[in-house]
Amino acid sequence: PLPPPDDASGSDPVFVPPPAAIAAAPFDTLGLPPAVLANLARLGYHAMTPIQAASLPVALAGHDLIAQAKTGSGKTAAFGLPLLQRLDARRFAVQALVLCPTRELAEQVGQELRRLARAEDNIKILTLCGGSPIRPQADSLAHGAHVVVGTPGRLMDHISRGSLKLDALATLVLDEADRMLDMGFFDDIAYVAKACPKHRQTLLFSATYPEGVVRLARQFMRQPQEIALPEQH
Ligand code: ADP
Ligand code: MG
Repeated sequence: PLPPPDDASGSDPVFVPPPAAIAAAPFDTLGLPPAVLANLARLGYHAMTPIQAASLPVALAGHDLIAQAKTGSGKTAAFGLPLLQRLDARRFAVQALVLCPTRELAEQVGQELRRLARAEDNIKILTLCGGSPIRPQADSLAHGAHVVVGTPGRLMDHISRGSLKLDALATLVLDEADRMLDMGFFDDIAYVAKACPKHRQTLLFSATYPEGVVRLARQFMRQPQEIALPEQH
């Protein structure tokens, strides 16, 4: 079993070590629809990365999840596939919200989600970050979106103005949570999380597991399962 990360002092994590044989697990063990598997093959995704193999069964089953893995390990698909799986494309309301530390990361996540969502499913994914005028973003929201990706401060602004409504939200993702906290976003994240429906899935991804992340998990997650991968992954 994996030792808990160094900074987990004061926490009571239940670590779920990934199975030993996850190295080359194919996606078709997950029960995903054939069209989704075909799209993954088209993208050249032939096997799950270790964080995907460890996270996807837990997240697809609907559990809250804390996943600790380094940059470049494939975390976007680890939360993207489950949130896309839960979407009802016919319902034109925001059903998933992804919080990222910076505009660049939000744009990357938005692009990856657009690749994972099949074009024929007509999933509308909006990226909303600070530094851009807020009115055009509000207009885009008014036209309808299924998934919103953005930075915490700007998402908080849209919620407080009433331009972002979260009553249909099913999945909240905190991506790169440790970096968001380093940037001083704890209160903004808390504001957004409190504005989300209580019955939702929360997925938290972080490269490290500092006390702030533990606090976020305690306050805003329901019995999260925890996954940490060894450094080399
Ligand atoms: P992270 O968020 O952990 O930094 P990303 O989700 O951005 O990582 O993924 C890193 C890169 O790996 C992206 O270019 C993505 O398209 C690619 N990728 C993700 N999962 C797979 C996979 N299973 N097979 C092949 N490439 C993948
Ligand atoms: Mg990422």
